[in-house]
Amino acid sequence: MFVTENLTKIMENINHAITRANQINMIKLDDVKLVAVTKNHSVLTIEKAIAAGVVAIGENRIQEALDKSLTLTGKVEWQLIGHLQTNKVRQAVSLFDMIQSVDSERLAIEINRVAKKINKRQDILMQINVANEDTKFGISAKEVMPLARVISNLENVRLCGLMTVAPFYENTELTRPIFREMYQLFMGLKEANLPNTSIEWLSMGMTNDYSVAIEEGSNLVRIGTGIFGQREY
Ligand SMILES: *Cc1c(COP(=O)(O)O)cnc(C)c1O
Repeated sequence: MFVTENLTKIMENINHAITRANQINMIKLDDVKLVAVTKNHSVLTIEKAIAAGVVAIGENRIQEALDKSLTLTGKVEWQLIGHLQTNKVRQAVSLFDMIQSVDSERLAIEINRVAKKINKRQDILMQINVANEDTKFGISAKEVMPLARVISNLENVRLCGLMTVAPFYENTELTRPIFREMYQLFMGLKEANLPNTSIEWLSMGMTNDYSVAIEEGSNLVRIGTGIFGQREY
């Protein structure tokens, strides 16, 4: 596995995309955070990634992440990128620094309740299904502000931005309008200046489409295959 080489190449691509975002799209983008997606990969792989400079990892299943966290020796930031059911909230809040997949009022309220008990302020993103795909989780564009207002009243939750999983297109240009719409939603949310929020992250872009996502204003990309190769299921 060529984790270090892959990471070097990806960082190069990220930097090129940042330049294009700034020069072509006039988006003020300083830096992009890389979350290495380690689902279906072993703890050893995570250790290698950390050694190669990865500071944040993304996992989409609670139990898998908890199991890994017990044997992992290195320090890393944990980001939940998969769907979260209300009955798993206690475990999720105990481990994750960021929960990217909040997609309902009920889930946000449960996260707040559990976080309060352990005196934590849980950072979250709202997951948006911009393309309104039946197969994807997430709220629609028009639900962004109403849900953000509810979350802004929850003391032990801090809304930090938006996340989306774009539809897969071989031709990533087709994804561009979706990313553009996400950026508009993100800026609208930022400008709303809701109390108790810190709108900082726009999480979009995976192995297939991260360059286009960054060009359209993403500042957090979630990359698995591009770093670790194909996952075995
Ligand atoms: C698996 C996954 C990724 C990473 O996908 P790759 O195509 O392997 O880069 C990113 N985001 C989410 C939500 C995922 O489930």
